Amino acid sequence: MKVKVAVNGYGTIGKRVADALRKQRDMEVVGVTKTKPDFEAKMAIRKGFRLFCAIPENLKLFESAGVEIEGTVHDLIEDVDIVIDCSPGKVGVQNKPMYEKAGVKAIFQGGEKRDVAELSFNALANYEEAIGKRFVRVVSCNTTGLVRVLYLLDKNFGVEKVRAVMIRRVVDPKEDKKGLVNGISPDPIKLPSHHGPDVQTVLPHIDITTVAFKVPTTLMHIHSLNVRLGEKVSEDSILDVFEREPRILLISGEDGFTSTTKIIEFAREVRDRYDLFENVVWRDSIAVVDGELYFTQAIHQEAIVIPENVDAVRAMFEMAEKDESISMTNESLDIGKLSF
Ligand code: NAD
Repeated sequence: MKVKVAVNGYGTIGKRVADALRKQRDMEVVGVTKTKPDFEAKMAIRKGFRLFCAIPENLKLFESAGVEIEGTVHDLIEDVDIVIDCSPGKVGVQNKPMYEKAGVKAIFQGGEKRDVAELSFNALANYEEAIGKRFVRVVSCNTTGLVRVLYLLDKNFGVEKVRAVMIRRVVDPKEDKKGLVNGISPDPIKLPSHHGPDVQTVLPHIDITTVAFKVPTTLMHIHSLNVRLGEKVSEDSILDVFEREPRILLISGEDGFTSTTKIIEFAREVRDRYDLFENVVWRDSIAVVDGELYFTQAIHQEAIVIPENVDAVRAMFEMAEKDESISMTNESLDIGKLSF
């Protein structure tokens, strides 16, 4: 039997989640929602998704635009086991009463506050805690990128202290209403950025302080990490841990990966929408100086949380053990096969 899933909000994250769910043999996408009959709505239909209206009052817009609509979000959620809410940040919490009323489970995204759900989720770090849960929040792109590596370092060596700098893409590539054209913006100016506390929603015992800056690029984020570990480590032992994790893609400057532009150029060759679901870590950035670890990673904000949403569904319905779910998801999305 397949779990029946709705994707509420077919935007940057929603369309990727819908495509990923389609590749799972134990899940079925019953439908997706849009608020208006734009090209993304038409693309959803062209790709064979059943389309529903996210805002019931907007139903007429679809009808007058001649876009085939199957009903409202209320009709859709009556027919599913779980909703993956991919609406804009802070909108998911407004949708929650609708899920409660319909008696369905729901997954929220990182733009929501932690208290929208019972658990902030990352598949590597706390899959088991999501078993049987009704409401789960998949943490944001930056937090997912941090949690994956910190979980692995903590498990293998113990993490004593983390200091991380996030250099953030200002907006996603499709955004044409806002942006930073020619500046670098501390985000926020006052320490810490929200990323450290957000990491602690998944890994509460990690001592972490983060600072962040927005820069005028849309492709990826960059993280520069400094980690004090509980034991003496060599660069090779760090590499060994990262090499064994499929959700980390190792690259190197020697192969011409001199910036995020080159990473994306590579991804264009190998992945639909150039989606990189993995943390992209520069091998040659890994350095141990005075007993402390430093490395640099790039995070494709549009893609990194997608496998986590798929695994969250399996955990919430107790459909698979952690390792089984992660390897099914990895296999379906071709994760773990690209390292250099
Ligand atoms: P988006 O703006 O690209 O997509 C959101 C979609 O939801 C749009 O299609 C919008 O029309 C629709 N929508 C608006 N109001 C709605 C409503 N009331 N009900 C249902 N749908 C509605 O946004 P996104 O980038 O996909 O972000 C979605 C969530 O994922 C946010 O919480 C965000 O913080 C989080 N997130 C985004 C990224 C990223 O880089 N884009 C990365 C990780 C997590």
